Amino acid sequence: MEDIKPESFRDKPLNIDETGKSKRIIAKQPKGKWYTRRTIFAWFCILFLVFAPIIKINGNPLMLFDVINRKFSIFGNMFYPQDTFILALIMLVIVVFVVLFTVVYGRLFCGWACPQTIFLEMIYRRIEYIFDGNHRNKSKENYDSFSKTIRTIGKHISFIIVSFLITNLFIMWFTGPDKLWQIISSPISENKLGFLFMAGVSLFYYFVYAYLRQQICTFFCPYGRLQGVLLDSKSISVIYDFKRGEPRGAKNEGDCIDCGQCIAVCPTGIDIRNGSQFECVNCTACIDECNIVMNKVKKPGNLIRFDSYHGVETGNHSIKNARTYAYSAVLFVLIIALGITVSKRTSIDVSFNRMQGTLCQEVDSVTVSNIYTVKLINKSSIDKNITFKLLDVPNANLQFTNDISKLKADTNTESVLMLNLPKQQLKAHSTDLKIGVYDGDNLITTNTINFIGPQK
Ligand code: SF4
Ligand code: SF4
Repeated sequence: MEDIKPESFRDKPLNIDETGKSKRIIAKQPKGKWYTRRTIFAWFCILFLVFAPIIKINGNPLMLFDVINRKFSIFGNMFYPQDTFILALIMLVIVVFVVLFTVVYGRLFCGWACPQTIFLEMIYRRIEYIFDGNHRNKSKENYDSFSKTIRTIGKHISFIIVSFLITNLFIMWFTGPDKLWQIISSPISENKLGFLFMAGVSLFYYFVYAYLRQQICTFFCPYGRLQGVLLDSKSISVIYDFKRGEPRGAKNEGDCIDCGQCIAVCPTGIDIRNGSQFECVNCTACIDECNIVMNKVKKPGNLIRFDSYHGVETGNHSIKNARTYAYSAVLFVLIIALGITVSKRTSIDVSFNRMQGTLCQEVDSVTVSNIYTVKLINKSSIDKNITFKLLDVPNANLQFTNDISKLKADTNTESVLMLNLPKQQLKAHSTDLKIGVYDGDNLITTNTINFIGPQK
């Protein structure tokens, strides 16, 4: 690691050299309580990523974003384009939650739950430790050149295989496991485009994890860039206790012995002692490493820890401020609105639209007819027996051009409705009528349609 002159860390990111070229950071493998916790949590996230599209709740996948067929399953609830309002509300709740979470806990998501970090730290880097040796022990330097070449080839083949598996996982979130299996089990000649896409995405992942790595977090990720505006002095993040640590150096009275181990273990190559920096993904590796050092020199641990600048400065660790209250209030209102909207959502979506170019037809001297196109979507995983009743005129005659009474689970259908009404029922030229949609005897939803009668 190069020597860093005081304040020079502000001139450029540490993983960029004087000419603007990126430098490869080879960090030591972390070791300690936080790394163990992070490993457990990361594998829980990986299991969720693998099984969420496979596990079914009420016949629907736990998670599925089937963009091609325009249906999305979120925790077993199927949403369609007709539910755009709910999807928009869900997005808003997520955005406000992320903002609130970031204001309070900083970039914790990046180090612990972001798929980029999880795959990089828990899979690709572990493969690297196997083939190149753990940089803690500098074991790679002990290999002869033949062994190094074989190990490098083995590492990159493993990277390519894992990238291919991650691509399949990514595709499964959009297609579901059955469709994915159909794609990968069919001959390449039958699905050239699909395989080209798969190969392209696999190569992209390989390039990201084998070469770009932490540059995704420092240069490309928009969330990382937002930290500057979201964090304040009360936000919790990985922080160096400068009050306890300084003046640093083995012979000084501060607790930091200036061993540089916190830098050696950092995957983004920064020195956390310079304060909060946009490259820090809150991975906690430096906390573990510094605790090992503190233990060796018989000083109290947590010189680097989760805390806020305000907490280190004053000893007051409160996370409450006006912004946390404001975001919490907005989040609360949004969650209530989402809850109400979801509770009012029906399992059947019905729309009636007057057929283009038609108004009213006089069937005979006593009957008038209007024609509508009817669209029905069964958003549930249960087959439905659909019937319609005009609630305002119980004896009205409803004629459909095709049978739409049997509506299978997760399907849609459409028909043309001829609604015949006795003229004497019509009090005005234009009348709004309520039409009930039933599943067996259960009223599912009520729609209002407009009926045009002859000019009075
Ligand atoms: S690991 Fe701890 S003691 Fe060593 S330089 Fe970093 S902060 Fe100082
Ligand atoms: S400074 Fe510490 S927490 Fe931040 S990225 Fe580096 S090792 Fe992880």
